[in-house]
Amino acid sequence: MSNRFVALQVGAVSFIDEGVSPVLDTFQERAGVNALFLATPTWTRGTGGRQLPDHPLPDHGAQEHDYHWVGGNYATIHPQFYGKTALGTAGRAPEHPDWDIFEAVLPEAQKRGMQCFAWIEESGYAQELRNYPNFPKCLEVDVWGRPAPRPCFNNPDYRNWHLSIVEDYAKSYPLDGIAWCSERPGPLNLLLQSPTTAEQVTCFCPYCRAVAHERNIDATRAQEGYRKLVEWNQRIAAGNIPTDGAFISFWRLLLQYPEVLAWQTLWTESQRQIYRDIYGVAKACKPALQVGWHVYHNISFSPFYRADQDYEEMSRFSDFIKVVNYNNCAGPRFHTWIQNICQSLFADASPAEVYPLMLKLLGLDEVAYEALAATGFSAEYVRRETARAVQDVAGRCNIYPGIDIDIPIASSSHAASTGIGSNMKASSAIAQCSRAQVRDAVLAAFAGGAQGVVLSRKYSEMQLDHLSGAGDALKEVR
Ligand SMILES: [Zn+2]
Repeated sequence: MSNRFVALQVGAVSFIDEGVSPVLDTFQERAGVNALFLATPTWTRGTGGRQLPDHPLPDHGAQEHDYHWVGGNYATIHPQFYGKTALGTAGRAPEHPDWDIFEAVLPEAQKRGMQCFAWIEESGYAQELRNYPNFPKCLEVDVWGRPAPRPCFNNPDYRNWHLSIVEDYAKSYPLDGIAWCSERPGPLNLLLQSPTTAEQVTCFCPYCRAVAHERNIDATRAQEGYRKLVEWNQRIAAGNIPTDGAFISFWRLLLQYPEVLAWQTLWTESQRQIYRDIYGVAKACKPALQVGWHVYHNISFSPFYRADQDYEEMSRFSDFIKVVNYNNCAGPRFHTWIQNICQSLFADASPAEVYPLMLKLLGLDEVAYEALAATGFSAEYVRRETARAVQDVAGRCNIYPGIDIDIPIASSSHAASTGIGSNMKASSAIAQCSRAQVRDAVLAAFAGGAQGVVLSRKYSEMQLDHLSGAGDALKEVR
């Protein structure tokens, strides 16, 4: 009898609205949950707050939208851990300011044998971050040399702030682990989609330039190349395709400015160094902590992003990887992704032509493009993507596929909350989630060799009956 890891992502509001014990009863009875991913800090609706304001509320919790939800850190901030960062102790969520999610949930959950993880979403896109004092000292720099809205991974104030949160959590609470999430794809991946603004194409700040110098990458040439790529991207988005075509003109720029590729790798490597630092800091504070990462949905859609995210290499600094295998919402999301790349890199072809090739490149076998948005991806997709990750990490860390339950497909709020790209337009048709689909996806994850699953994205958007699909699956495998 195996004891498979079954985690569920849940935010502060669910415990406040429904009570700690009733929520945990539901998790255990319906879905066999034995681990909690407690969303803190979070600044996005993807993991925090109630249901998206423009979507119907699920059949539990307060039946009222929290239009003014802000987010942040739902634990007590202990100032002694926040040295060497200009952001200091910024970040306490304004909701429930005297309530500490770990103090409220950990005793009851751990008494029941449930593991507790801090589920930290970096949320570089969030507006709220920019309201914190000194946040402008952490900003990226764009192709035109202007500070850009998001924080830079190489900025020591931003890095130390996140490492401070990790130290605070590790030392202040009897947590079992840290799950960390950053849904940012880097400058070149953004430019392959359309349209992209110059402020999203980063980062050329002095800290990134110093890293480039160490790696013998010419920052001036890289920045020049990215300026030309921004112009290329905007020109194609406007329908003004160069004589030689969108793809060939793109490739020509890569040939002229190979530093562009080097800069994408520098960006990815800078993001990864935060992972390494978090891993090391967490272990230094408490060796038993399990530390792992959420790898966001672009891993399923973009061969370019997939090439960046090498599981084999990630396994060297991971106890687990939560691979996003959301099959229901994958349909509309991939439909949108195809539409967008056909307004940029693949503007020479139509979505219906590009889609089958992308499936081949990604090792997927799904329904025809016209049916995709309304159908979603199959459970077989979950199995394939799980098996690929399990094979890549070769036993060095656990693979916990993310299983989607009732993730809404929204327009702008969806794009912002997933970070797939605020530039992405949503598809109109919507794939519906069901109890049987959840069951099949969980079974497929285990068939692919997963050591566990993470039910996603947040309890406050899930229908109770659909959550029971996970319990149905466990009855078959346990
Ligand atoms: Zn930078």
